[in-house]
Amino acid sequence: MLLKKKIGLTAKIFIGIILGVCFGLVLKGMPDGGFKNTLLLDGILKLLGTGFINAIKMLVVPLVFASLVCGASSIGDVKKLGRIGVKTICFYLITTAVAITIALGIGKLINPGIGLDMSELITQETTIAESKSLVDIFLGMIPTNPIQSLASGEMLQIIVFALLLGVSISMVGAKAEPVKKFFESANELCMKMVTIIMHLAPYGVFALITNTFATVGFDAMFSLLKYMLAVLIALALQAFLVYSGLVKFTTGLKLKPFYKKFANVAAVTFSTASSNAAIPLSIESMEEIGVHNSVASFTIPLGATINMDGTAIMQGVACVFISQIYNIDLGFSGLLTIILTATLASIGTAGVPGVGMITLSMVLTSVGLPIEGIGLIMGVDRLLDMTRTTVNVMGDCACTLIVSNSEKELDLDLYYGKDQQVSK
Ligand code: ASP
Repeated sequence: MLLKKKIGLTAKIFIGIILGVCFGLVLKGMPDGGFKNTLLLDGILKLLGTGFINAIKMLVVPLVFASLVCGASSIGDVKKLGRIGVKTICFYLITTAVAITIALGIGKLINPGIGLDMSELITQETTIAESKSLVDIFLGMIPTNPIQSLASGEMLQIIVFALLLGVSISMVGAKAEPVKKFFESANELCMKMVTIIMHLAPYGVFALITNTFATVGFDAMFSLLKYMLAVLIALALQAFLVYSGLVKFTTGLKLKPFYKKFANVAAVTFSTASSNAAIPLSIESMEEIGVHNSVASFTIPLGATINMDGTAIMQGVACVFISQIYNIDLGFSGLLTIILTATLASIGTAGVPGVGMITLSMVLTSVGLPIEGIGLIMGVDRLLDMTRTTVNVMGDCACTLIVSNSEKELDLDLYYGKDQQVSK
């Protein structure tokens, strides 16, 4: 039922894209005038497109905050989880940073935005974030007034405060239970709101794509294809080079059983575009290849929230693409800021469809790139979302395998064949 609904939405978004391309090209061929410019482009289409973007931007602060408090507090008894927690978190952070670095490299190699100039379409004043020293970047992450940080949407400060709050909740234990429950409930509500807003996606995407093609025509299509290609190449490298290298290097295991079992999980991640939706199947599949339940039940749900390598890849390539179409030079410090912000952003979001686009606005703002750039890539995002979610979850599963092997919690008999039984 759920699967059916998601596929329905995906199909609607595809229809929105196709209609948007056709309608946009028709509008491009029409002479300028009140009907085309005032009523359609700056009227109805702007209302639908910008309205949709504003609606997803509305959720950034509540979603990141609630989700991160829940993720950090679900670590449970920090002392007891000890090594497993530290290993898992290190793995997640490092692979995400590697993922964005690959994305920036591929982005710079393919140059998806070169040849498409949209600099005159910037409607808000854009300033490049001044390059700051590393000390200033870290100092800027510590909120002196967390309420103010929430109100002004200072994401790095919000993340730091949320992490501290979540870890404290788990350390205080029973007395903090009501607060924990409150944030779990708030997190559920935020996810629901994302789902509701995603139902507007076909209309928003239609309007955004129409506006894009009415303004820039086929140049945009070619650039968008290059953007998609760059994201897909970076995702493939992460999935088949980074993860297989890490598994092979740290465990010495053959890779085939892992990828074979992961194929089932991939069917779910691809059709739902949601890491959260894949949690039950991921845990089950990992147990079927010999991972002990005590490891999988911790690393998989935690990974669904804090580990999003595929999402970080999309954000890395998107930053390069948007900087190129708006002719803005990112510079070395800009690239470093993207690595840091996108790594932290991937920690702070729930694994639900389309969420990577929401946090992309935060990554763009952190380097002074115009948020309007999202309008262009939004149209092709659903397809990429399906693919990057698969990589997000593959990262969680690879980590689960590596950690369980290092903790001697992996049943090699099950891993190498008798995969019908489940280890308990
Ligand atoms: N859909 C992704 C996930 O669930 C998140 C994203 O939008 O990138 O993992």
